[in-house]
Amino acid sequence: MQPDRPEGDRLTGLNDRQNPLRRALTATLVYLVAGLIWITFSDRIVEVWFPDPRTLSTVQTWKGFAFVVFTGLVLFIAILRLLSKDRLLLSLQVNQRRALRQRERQLTVLMDNLPGMAYRCLHDDQWTMVFVSGGCERLTGYTPDELIDNRLTSFAALMDADTTERIAEEVDIAVRKGRSFSIEYAITRKDGRQVWVWERGCGVEQDDGTAFLEGVVLDITDRKELENELEELATRDPLTGLLNRREFSRVLEEELERARRYERPMALVWIDFDHFKEVNDSWGHAAGDAVLCAVSRTLEDSVRSVDAVGRFGGEEFVIVLPEMDIEGARDMAERLRQRVSRKPTLLESGHSVPLTISIGVAVFPVHGHNLDTLCGAADKAMYQAKMQGRDCVVMAQPVQPVHNEG
Ligand code: GH3
Ligand code: MG
Ligand code: MG
Repeated sequence: MQPDRPEGDRLTGLNDRQNPLRRALTATLVYLVAGLIWITFSDRIVEVWFPDPRTLSTVQTWKGFAFVVFTGLVLFIAILRLLSKDRLLLSLQVNQRRALRQRERQLTVLMDNLPGMAYRCLHDDQWTMVFVSGGCERLTGYTPDELIDNRLTSFAALMDADTTERIAEEVDIAVRKGRSFSIEYAITRKDGRQVWVWERGCGVEQDDGTAFLEGVVLDITDRKELENELEELATRDPLTGLLNRREFSRVLEEELERARRYERPMALVWIDFDHFKEVNDSWGHAAGDAVLCAVSRTLEDSVRSVDAVGRFGGEEFVIVLPEMDIEGARDMAERLRQRVSRKPTLLESGHSVPLTISIGVAVFPVHGHNLDTLCGAADKAMYQAKMQGRDCVVMAQPVQPVHNEG
């Protein structure tokens, strides 16, 4: 860094914008005028000062020598200055090239060691790459040669259609506002593996008007996996993998809101295992856990993809069935009851554990208008099922309309 300053100072001299031809002509003109004046006047003066012809001849000779020495000196200084400038220019060029190469090397090392890649691409639908750093192959599985100019594939082809559309929209908005963009999305590598990436970039325009995007794409798969794990931990029951109580309540609240907005029915199924304590007592707690898991799978496999199954606590399970009316909900609950009772859990020891369940069903808006009343109604219906001898389905009681007196 240090040599930059004196070089910079010296450069000011070199930045002289005078025309070289004009400078050369001026110097020659000065030389010619000075020479003519010298020849004309010096001859007159020495003739006056030295009238003796012999002395005059000697003086003339010395005057000639003096002229040659002087012009030689001027020529020497001029050539020296010229060559010094040339040398300075040359050394400046060499130093600049060396500094440029060093910076290039540093930049390449930096880019190649990114946990991802740096890129420059055309701002088009394909994200046509014009430059990608060495990390490209590590990140995408494609070599830079395969990605540049879309030779084997385009960068856009590594994402699914929805992602491409979402990203294009975000990037367009950022570029239009002259801001940088920062996005997260998944790409499919050459080996078919999916990786999550975080991209930060900005739009740049070349002098000819061509629009480019420049930035970095970093691998954040590890972070994403950790986030997913944390989300699983926060929303799932660790034993059965079903939604935990908190997450189920959130989903139920969401579905209730939807049902209310679109005035659609929605059913809530409340399940409790019959005499489960006896299962634990007879087969042990571990066997009880195995039964809980097996029945969870049966419940999950018996519902539609839009339904959500949760473990509310202990051996109490709940299912939310969007768009399900009383009749549909009763049929579904009955199907669940039969499937569980007909499918005893086979333990690792080879023994099979039979189990029955009692089910209470409440339907929005007939049996309750909000989360508490609906849950209360379904729970109450389940207890009714217990009272009726277990292994059965009981529908909740319709909410009694409130009559204002007077
Ligand atoms: P009922 O038909 O009246 O429901 O009888 P029950 O024995 O099922 O009675 P209750 O529902 O009150 O008892 C629940 C039992 O479930 C008590 C507890 O030992 C057992 N349990 C709760 N959570 C777990 C669990 O995570 N694993 C195991 N193995 N057992 C559990
Ligand atoms: Mg029970
Ligand atoms: Mg219970």
